[in-house]
Amino acid sequence: MDRIKLSDNFYLDEFTRSQTAVRHGIDMSVIEGGLVYTHLRRLCKTILQPVRDELGPVHISSGYRPSKLNKLIGGSSNSAHCNGKAADITVSGYTPLQVAQWIDENLPNYDQVIHEFGQWVHVSISGPLREPRGSGLTAVKVPRRFGNPKTVYIPYILSIEDALKRA
Ligand SMILES: [Zn+2]
Repeated sequence: MDRIKLSDNFYLDEFTRSQTAVRHGIDMSVIEGGLVYTHLRRLCKTILQPVRDELGPVHISSGYRPSKLNKLIGGSSNSAHCNGKAADITVSGYTPLQVAQWIDENLPNYDQVIHEFGQWVHVSISGPLREPRGSGLTAVKVPRRFGNPKTVYIPYILSIEDALKRA
């Protein structure tokens, strides 16, 4: 089967790969021309392709997540991943902080960019009826005296060290 192209360097299957989905038999199919497909295309055209053109190949670790998959992996309940408006990415040769900063400085139409734990960048677009928020955040794990570390979102795209100071 031919791969479905979303922009010059991005294909639909990059956004629907999930070992968790395979393991749990979750249907990851996206209808060509449907809402999820339309969002993914816009995400590619406005954000991911410009990142690719400037910084090089982009690895997508998580793209589209049907709500069942999102629940299984502990995503936030109103996650932009659920309707194809978000992707978690890394770019080889650049730190996630550098990638997040580059998007923030060069692509003003993003809705949210989150520097996540120094490991990857979450980037999303807004729906067609809402102005993009242009909100940059840093996610860090803050150790607690008891129990597991807590995830905290700090305003602005920061190094993990600086974000922890403000947590
Ligand atoms: Zn994400």
